[in-house]
Amino acid sequence: MKTKDIFKCQQCGDCCKGFGGTFVTEKEIEKIAARVDTDPKTFVEKYCRVSGGKPLLGQGKDKYCIFWEGLCSIHPVKPRMCKNWPFLKSVLVDINNWHIMASLCPGIRTDVPDSTIKAHVAQELSKNS
Ligand code: SF4
Ligand code: SF4
Repeated sequence: MKTKDIFKCQQCGDCCKGFGGTFVTEKEIEKIAARVDTDPKTFVEKYCRVSGGKPLLGQGKDKYCIFWEGLCSIHPVKPRMCKNWPFLKSVLVDINNWHIMASLCPGIRTDVPDSTIKAHVAQELSKNS
């Protein structure tokens, strides 16, 4: 079984809406701030909310990420969490996260053994690290 057999994006945009929040690292903040012509401090104030001491990308009234404009408007510099979706470390920690994500993402298959899912997630993470 190939990775595309357990996940194939349907381009619906639902993962940019509401899912737990998108954390951004300091480096990511620098890059995105430059992209939107501001400095990191102003970026956090204007475009993020802070949860547990960590900045997350803000959401609009429609609950979509503030950078969602039918497509991701910061695609070249989008956070690692978005680039890696749905191959996230949290799935290796708890396979239930895959199933929760699948309830939000029509591209994710769940009718395969958990061990297969974990193997593919680990493989994709090693490519992206
Ligand atoms: S929710 Fe899933 S299928 Fe929809 S755009 Fe996001 S990754 Fe693709
Ligand atoms: S940064 Fe882009 S890909 Fe990530 S949640 Fe926002 S709109 Fe979606």
